Amino acid sequence: MKIAIAGAGPAGSYLGALLSGKHEVVLFEGQTEDRFTSVCGWATARGGAKELLRKVGLNFDDYLLHKGKEMSVSAFNSIYKISAPELVTFDKPRMLRDIAKGLNVHYGTFVRPGDLDGKYDMVIDASGPYRKLIGPVQEPTDMILPTFQWLVRYKDLPFDDFYIEPFNSFSGYLWYFPLGEHDAFVGAGDVWKKHQARVEDFLRRYPPSERVRTMGKPIRVAAPRSVFPHRKGNVVGVGEAIGTVYPILGEGILPSMYAADMLSQSLDDLDSYQRSVLSKFSAYDLSYDYIRRKMGHTDNLLNSFLPAVRIFLWFKRNFMITGVNPSLWDTFKVLRPRLKS
Ligand SMILES: Cc1cc2nc3c(=O)[nH]c(=O)nc-3n(C[C@H](O)[C@H](O)[C@H](O)COP(=O)(O)OP(=O)(O)OC[C@H]3O[C@@H](n4cnc5c(N)ncnc54)[C@H](O)[C@@H]3O)c2cc1C
Repeated sequence: MKIAIAGAGPAGSYLGALLSGKHEVVLFEGQTEDRFTSVCGWATARGGAKELLRKVGLNFDDYLLHKGKEMSVSAFNSIYKISAPELVTFDKPRMLRDIAKGLNVHYGTFVRPGDLDGKYDMVIDASGPYRKLIGPVQEPTDMILPTFQWLVRYKDLPFDDFYIEPFNSFSGYLWYFPLGEHDAFVGAGDVWKKHQARVEDFLRRYPPSERVRTMGKPIRVAAPRSVFPHRKGNVVGVGEAIGTVYPILGEGILPSMYAADMLSQSLDDLDSYQRSVLSKFSAYDLSYDYIRRKMGHTDNLLNSFLPAVRIFLWFKRNFMITGVNPSLWDTFKVLRPRLKS
């Protein structure tokens, strides 16, 4: 097949690498090659990433910047530590460029709806939050948060490991992710748009020796069942475009690559691809519904206690994908399920 992929993020570049040699693949990336980057905290789970990268002949450890042990969580007036044995930061733009190396990539080409019509057997929308080619979500169930992040430099890092501050209203969180000996990302995303003020507040409390640069981009935290359609005509969505970001953590790198892997295996049966996505990411729907109920104050004992336990069990089974391995007590401290009706 002749396949065009719009977007060389984790979903698009990984899909391109998996399909190359089997199909005629062209990748279009809006950013130019010399300025190519990824607005992201660059945090992921080492175990899951290693397994995925092996499939395209790369060693994930070549990109490591920081290996985590614990994540400090400051919430509801206390700080506690969650085990994070697999959580790391890594050089994401370099990894993405390496995944796409050898592929036919047109950098600096922003694809608009209609641009690729009639030229390809299949067009893949891997454009992340924008999904310009499959079009907007039909129901008012989508949720896209604005984010803002500083790359900062410290003489001595204020925290030697991951640190986050979830917002009391469940509308987002602030993160501090170390990127080696001196650098860190300090960022936040917030439905109520207080993210920039929260970042500034953190930087006042922990002033860096240098503010290197700012960046920002929306992030979709709505899960797959809330972002239909997943395809339109011969255009098929993959990655964040169809909601593969874990809503509680905002982690979308590995899940978007898993979605690409699923699509690569079901190109000739797109209904089966959609079924696999809905089944694999059903835990994302559960946690998205949980957050929405918390934000809308519609949570009660019935719809909050059991889902919180299920979210905890999912973390237990999937810490090679999330990087964090919270106890039941940790999970309850962050999720605050209602314990009475
Ligand atoms: C500030 C921030 C911090 C985050 N931190 C983390 C984190 O630490 N860990 C984690 O796992 N996830 C994180 N995420 C989420 C994660 O970055 C994404 O979910 C993940 O990269 C999604 O991959 P994707 O390939 O689907 O989309 P994207 O990574 O968004 O890639 C889409 C690509 O398509 C290109 N593009 C867009 N439109 C077009 C077009 N029309 N034509 C051509 N090219 C186009 C873009 O330039 C981009 O390169 C963060 C997100 C944000 C915004």
